[in-house]
Amino acid sequence: MRARAWQGLAVEKLRQWQEVFSASRESWRVRGGCPICLHEDCLYRHYQVGVVVEGASGRTRRLARGGLWEWCSGCWTFVHYAAMVPSWWGGGLEVDEARLTAVPDALQDAVDALSGGMESVEPKERDGSLERG
Ligand SMILES: [Zn+2]
Repeated sequence: MRARAWQGLAVEKLRQWQEVFSASRESWRVRGGCPICLHEDCLYRHYQVGVVVEGASGRTRRLARGGLWEWCSGCWTFVHYAAMVPSWWGGGLEVDEARLTAVPDALQDAVDALSGGMESVEPKERDGSLERG
């Protein structure tokens, strides 16, 4: 197995990093350039959906507590947060959750598996994706 040189995000780059990620909220593929290595199309994110919390005021929208990974496959910079899973999140990466750790190695394997076959992969429909667990 390839060893990836994962490195935690430097604190002084946190603001630029979060600006890029917050500007792209449609899937596990993040548009924009990495503020560390300056490459394009190498940023990814994944939410692990944990406990589902019913939204307030009876709306169908659901939120869930979970974990969030953000990483770059150009320079192997990564961040792992505890986070609320946003309502726009539709999943899309087939991940072996037993292999998930703070370091997104299993997640990059999932990206590699998808990128090997198809040029453009759309995130799955979100029906049922928050029901697991
Ligand atoms: Zn990078």
